[in-house]
Amino acid sequence: MNSSRSQWGSFKIKQPQTNCKHVGGEEIMDKCTFNEAKKLVRELVETKGFPNDESALTQKILWAFVELGEAADSYKKGEDWHVISEELIDAIFYILDFIGLIEKTQGIEIDVDHLFLEKWKKNMNRPNQYGQKRDLSK
Ligand SMILES: [Mg+2]
Repeated sequence: MNSSRSQWGSFKIKQPQTNCKHVGGEEIMDKCTFNEAKKLVRELVETKGFPNDESALTQKILWAFVELGEAADSYKKGEDWHVISEELIDAIFYILDFIGLIEKTQGIEIDVDHLFLEKWKKNMNRPNQYGQKRDLSK
């Protein structure tokens, strides 16, 4: 937020959210960062009453695998790209759910945006086709 001065003194001006749009007088988020998505998934889990304690951590990871399987199955069956992508997003939901639950149960904060960028930089500094020893094209 920016501070401005007026005849009444300092006040805060709320800058419009660049990732929100107004629909029917309501502010709707239409873009988000990984960290914002993590918070939205936390909200979804709490609102919809999904498992939300440390004992649920393992199942969050397992459900992410299930969603990846659904994506692979959709691809195999020639489903529309939107269907396949939605299954992949389901996997991301569970991954963010897991990370958010780690934060909640361990009392730590995990900056997913930062982690993503650090991992991207690390991978960009690796050699071509790093980690791939076999020629899989044969
Ligand atoms: Mg699914």
